[in-house]
Amino acid sequence: MNEILTKTIEEMADMEFDCSCGKKHRIDIKHIYVGENAYNRILDVAKEILPKEILLVSDNNTYKALGKCVENELTESGYNINNIILVSDGDLIPDEKAIGRVLVEVNNETELIVAVGSGSINDICRIISAKTHIPYVIMGTAPSMDGYASTVSPLIIDGAKVTYPGTNPYAIIADSNIMKDAPFEMICAGFGDILGKYTALSDWRLSNTIHDEYFCDTTEKLVRNAMYKCFENIEGAVKREVKAIEYISEALILSGIAMTLSGNSRPASGAEHHLSHYWEIDKLSRKLEHPLHGNSVGVGTVISAWLYKKLNIEERFGIETPVPEIIIKFIKFYWS
Ligand SMILES: [Zn+2]
Ligand SMILES: [Zn+2]
Repeated sequence: MNEILTKTIEEMADMEFDCSCGKKHRIDIKHIYVGENAYNRILDVAKEILPKEILLVSDNNTYKALGKCVENELTESGYNINNIILVSDGDLIPDEKAIGRVLVEVNNETELIVAVGSGSINDICRIISAKTHIPYVIMGTAPSMDGYASTVSPLIIDGAKVTYPGTNPYAIIADSNIMKDAPFEMICAGFGDILGKYTALSDWRLSNTIHDEYFCDTTEKLVRNAMYKCFENIEGAVKREVKAIEYISEALILSGIAMTLSGNSRPASGAEHHLSHYWEIDKLSRKLEHPLHGNSVGVGTVISAWLYKKLNIEERFGIETPVPEIIIKFIKFYWS
């Protein structure tokens, strides 16, 4: 029995353990805080690092939602803050312009980057942290994607999506009181990204069965348990109840951790993600808007689950696969 399965997400931070899969797994994130008023934890993190200057990065929306409050708390505690608010007309894009805008603010005094936001802000700060070796903390504002605990940064370079190696955040802070007030489309996207784990795990198991690919039961269980918790609390999530939003946030953080444990993206991303990436790149190349990542992953999950059913994979290989009708029901429940 691997002890990680009995831990809370906060206890998983900075953990190392010998796993039944034969690997020694390590989680290189110093702190993970999920819960009401978790935003306060930024003061504990700052006290640990004692930075000469903090680069605080948000956009116009996330500054209003949380950035301003973080700025006040840190200033009142005596820290020097360089506050950058990235301004964009529509969705903030993690491209050369946004990365450059933040990078020019890094100086010799910058010893901590505090990113306030979700997908794009996290990707921008992660790549800068990786290049400068300045630790960064992500303070989530929406349970919209599973990149919080990831180690790569998908960026838009020369108009195309390119994934760069990044680094783990020093800490992840997900305040459920803030996350629950995110635009509903973003909460849906988070749930859609979690739906995708269902077929991703089936893909991984199938490849293990057919090709004898490396598989970690513990990692699989971690993701599956977190995913089921979100399914069981779907009604609460639609009503923006704090506990249900925490389950989504935890599942999203956990799937990032799961990728670190397995050493690849298998536990978090399968055919449903390939479909979603294709749609995203296609729209991008035609300069058209595309839905939030998780929302197209949800649709990809339906197609993938339908293929599993059509090919009779569950009976043929004895592995659990999702029922497409149930996936459709979940999606309809969210959007009704
Ligand atoms: Zn393992
Ligand atoms: Zn995803």
